[in-house]
Amino acid sequence: MNASVTRRDALLGIAAAATSFAVPSILRAQSAGRVVVVGGGFGGAACARALKRAQVNLQVILIEPNAVFTSCPFSNEVIAGLREIEAQQFGYDNIAAEGVTVISQAVTTIEPQLRSVVTADGVALPYDRLVLSPGIDFHFETLPGYDDVASEKMPHAWKAGAQTLLLRRQLEAMPDGGTVAIAIPANPSRCPPAPYERASLIAHYLKTNKPRSKVLILDAKDNFSQQRLFESAWKELYGDMIERIGLSQGGRVTSVEPATRTIVTEFGNYTPDVANVIPPQRAGHIAEVAGAADATGWCPIDPVTFESKLVQNIHVIGDACLGGGIPKSASAASAQGKACAAAIANLLAGRAPETQRLTGVCYNIVAPGYGFSLAGNYQPKGDIFAEVEGGATSPVDAPRELRAREAAEAERWFQTITADTFG
Ligand SMILES: Cc1cc2nc3c(=O)[nH]c(=O)nc-3n(C[C@H](O)[C@H](O)[C@H](O)COP(=O)(O)OP(=O)(O)OC[C@H]3O[C@@H](n4cnc5c(N)ncnc54)[C@H](O)[C@@H]3O)c2cc1C
Repeated sequence: MNASVTRRDALLGIAAAATSFAVPSILRAQSAGRVVVVGGGFGGAACARALKRAQVNLQVILIEPNAVFTSCPFSNEVIAGLREIEAQQFGYDNIAAEGVTVISQAVTTIEPQLRSVVTADGVALPYDRLVLSPGIDFHFETLPGYDDVASEKMPHAWKAGAQTLLLRRQLEAMPDGGTVAIAIPANPSRCPPAPYERASLIAHYLKTNKPRSKVLILDAKDNFSQQRLFESAWKELYGDMIERIGLSQGGRVTSVEPATRTIVTEFGNYTPDVANVIPPQRAGHIAEVAGAADATGWCPIDPVTFESKLVQNIHVIGDACLGGGIPKSASAASAQGKACAAAIANLLAGRAPETQRLTGVCYNIVAPGYGFSLAGNYQPKGDIFAEVEGGATSPVDAPRELRAREAAEAERWFQTITADTFG
């Protein structure tokens, strides 16, 4: 349990809340309501802070099993040896100091009828509104041979932390002249350009340290985000060090054999020296437990309030929701967290929620001092978000000064979003 709340405090809080549920609302304490947020990543932490700021009398509870959050953005730099993992890590003390109750537990059960969540230690916490921001889990069923045990040999590094460091160690141990394979799933997936950023930065590490080596991309897609920018950078910086086999050339990975580190594709088998297998994804498991995920594995929402289309009083934000045109990124999760907080504050106060325009920017670093970006604006349209005018992408034929400027902007973006999210 986090320093900010003991198990006893939580239990007392529950007792108080349970009592308040039993009495007529007019007799309740001055609280403006109770919102429980599950998941302290980019979406959930931003939402919890924004809720407390929007309505100081609101009781906001953030539940997250890890005392320290490890950020995926910029974790490709850690893999390439350009950054320490500590620069990726953030605690929850500042959020707790702002009046959010932070509980270091995983949520194991959600009971929508009772409007209650249960944590791994058996504590039940009632809510008026529940926000789920659990990120992603993996669709192991769609990739035979791959599971948590296999990920110890063939790391995904798609949740940052121990997996990031494992992939780093494997690259360091690989002999010069070796091959690093990166298996990339189809969309929807977390941060669609990030696998190509990873291929670029691994190529940078190999060019600098093991120049006879190679990066092989096995891709379940034919086209990908910012493809022209990546491909022209690869040619300029890495020559033919990066080879990509797309979907129509048989690049989709159909199964893996961890014992021999074999990757099986529609075209043939590969046994690379390092196998970075990024599996197909779906919403974090707790969304399914809540009944908020549909047959796609993701969570349909009303894009104005982020309320689930399947379960009342539960809102889903970040990677877990079916957002349509809005990418699954930290930028989007943070913007969704704030918009969702505003909608909930209005709903609890009996006001109509307002339609909000969300903005997001995504930077890709392909070598130190070489970056490019994609900025977008998104608005609710029917059941999803649609991209609207005002977006911009870096030009393909830009001078190196612009690439250097964008790399510096990316670092500033990271400092800003992490300060904004974790305080
Ligand atoms: C290699 C890589 C690079 C990336 N680079 C960028 C980038 O440059 N820019 C960008 O905008 N995005 C980037 N992303 C994407 C970004 O990391 C995600 O889109 C973002 O983290 C999504 O936020 P989230 O809140 O939905 O999930 P997360 O940030 O993953 O947070 C989910 C949290 O929920 C918690 N949780 C899960 N289940 C439970 C439970 N049952 N109970 C309690 N807590 C639970 C988890 O512990 C976790 O802390 C990158 C991703 C990767 C993999």
